[in-house]
Amino acid sequence: MTLINDFMSLIYPRHCEACGNGLFKQEAYICNYCKLNLPKSNYHKNSQNELSLTFAGRVPLVNSLCFYLFEKSGKVQKLLHAIKYQNQKELAQFIGELYAQDLIKEKTLDDIDVIIPIPLHKNKLKLRGFNQSEWFAKGLAKMLKKPMDIISFERRQETSTQTKKKKYQRWENVEGIFSINDQQALINKHVLLVDDVITTGATIEAAWLALKEVEGIKVSVISIAFAARKLS
Ligand SMILES: [Zn+2]
Repeated sequence: MTLINDFMSLIYPRHCEACGNGLFKQEAYICNYCKLNLPKSNYHKNSQNELSLTFAGRVPLVNSLCFYLFEKSGKVQKLLHAIKYQNQKELAQFIGELYAQDLIKEKTLDDIDVIIPIPLHKNKLKLRGFNQSEWFAKGLAKMLKKPMDIISFERRQETSTQTKKKKYQRWENVEGIFSINDQQALINKHVLLVDDVITTGATIEAAWLALKEVEGIKVSVISIAFAARKLS
């Protein structure tokens, strides 16, 4: 078995998706050095965090969580790029499993009922072939032993042009992007909404506008990375 593995790594050299260095046999996707040194937010240990402040007064969230803090041209950006543009969906799942290990220790998400990845519009899903948030969610669901629901919540509109628009236009645009297919399935549930990257929070706000119609619903948010805007 080891022989085959060694042989395979000669043909397909395995490297760390964050730093590019070769991986040791026991390592997968991310080397141990990067695992220890990537900028974790640790927001699960601090409920009054920068991400929760981003949503303050806009979206009432139980937990606001992200695994890493995004830095332009940094290693976290490399990870996200590998997932999105190099088809590394298994890397997204791996990161979900890694993050879940931290969250289990603190019992942060014990009372979550269902995990819902932010859906892609069907045209975009067709184009990319997979939903990166769904694969991240898959890793979380597996480790946290919570069900994932990709049916009850749907994206009706594409929003790819949004980034080019000005901020005030964007807020007007968020209503009606998402819709609920199955209200009944979400009544009185604590939903964990899963996204890959959060920047302005507009997508989560749009999701909330649809979800808030469900009776007794509670929402928490989790992402691979959070790109905090510099307040200068
Ligand atoms: Zn590395």
